[in-house]
Amino acid sequence: MIDLRSDTVTKPSPAMLDAMRHANVGDDVYGEDPTVIELQEKAANLFGKEAGLFCTSGTMTNQIAINCFTSPLEEVICDEGAHVYYYEGGGIAFNSAASVRTLPGIRGVFTAKQVRDNINKDDIHHPTTSLVVIENTANRGGGHCWELGQLETISKVCKENNLKLHLDGARIFNAIIAKGYSASEIGHYFDGISICLSKGLGTPIGSVLLGTKEFIHKAKRVRKVMGGGWRQAGYLAAAGIYALDFHVERLAEDHKRAKVLEDVLKPHPLVKEVLPIETNIVIFELVDHISEVEFISKMKEHGVLCASPGKKRVRFVTHLDFTDEMLEKTVEVLKKIK
Ligand SMILES: *Cc1c(COP(=O)(O)O)cnc(C)c1O
Repeated sequence: MIDLRSDTVTKPSPAMLDAMRHANVGDDVYGEDPTVIELQEKAANLFGKEAGLFCTSGTMTNQIAINCFTSPLEEVICDEGAHVYYYEGGGIAFNSAASVRTLPGIRGVFTAKQVRDNINKDDIHHPTTSLVVIENTANRGGGHCWELGQLETISKVCKENNLKLHLDGARIFNAIIAKGYSASEIGHYFDGISICLSKGLGTPIGSVLLGTKEFIHKAKRVRKVMGGGWRQAGYLAAAGIYALDFHVERLAEDHKRAKVLEDVLKPHPLVKEVLPIETNIVIFELVDHISEVEFISKMKEHGVLCASPGKKRVRFVTHLDFTDEMLEKTVEVLKKIK
């Protein structure tokens, strides 16, 4: 089976497993795991942040950040398709007793004006706006990237209005490779940054939350109360260090393969529209006479797994374990189904 459902389906390579096996570890709840410390420092340095916190998932790093940056009766602004709102099980309400103002962005990207227009006045009828969340790349936007200038203007509005700004950077390295900006160039716009190691970077588990020392100190408390304090996590951190060293530049290959899929999908008789492809996510809309369920099952019959991000829509995500040979086979299958 060729698995294009997500870039989370990768398995660690022999070299990554070697790095994991040879990790120097300790009890991370006591702050004594040298490999966890190394990963946290490495990621923080990359984005120009003071400190990092290694966690199990991107949902956990996002939810911890939201918890630290809000109080009950406050409000978070994000895109209507944002992972923190759409895919985290209502965690903002559950974990933080905060409400959410969703913005209709364009493929996950909204404007500084939209943010400004949606900051609540100081009025007891309204929750107090306290946080903005940006997702880069925007998952439901088809891996759409934010421009540096857009990040800058939103960051400015946040500072002017005393709002915190969090980056859901589950796929920030895809944006960095596609746009050519650097981690340190974008890092300073944000109070909190969540990066995923288990998406395009190919580790089995893990995300890192980044920010000031004070923020990360508080985040560690919240992680503990969520049951996220872990012990010899250095075996997993070693995979993360390996991924940051060897799996960032190669994301360009995933992007190239996604472009090849776009070329086949655009003129395809079952495809109405393909969202512009910038990174490793390919989202397309089907013509009227076929449902996403039928399309996915046709692909599966021919050995290719894919997913649906919504009615009439299908998603392919290219990744580390999707080779040129698999790409050729996928193209053949696409040409076969009608
Ligand atoms: C995958 C993803 C996350 C985190 O997901 P986990 O499965 O909890 O690691 C967060 N944000 C975005 C945009 C994602 O795609």
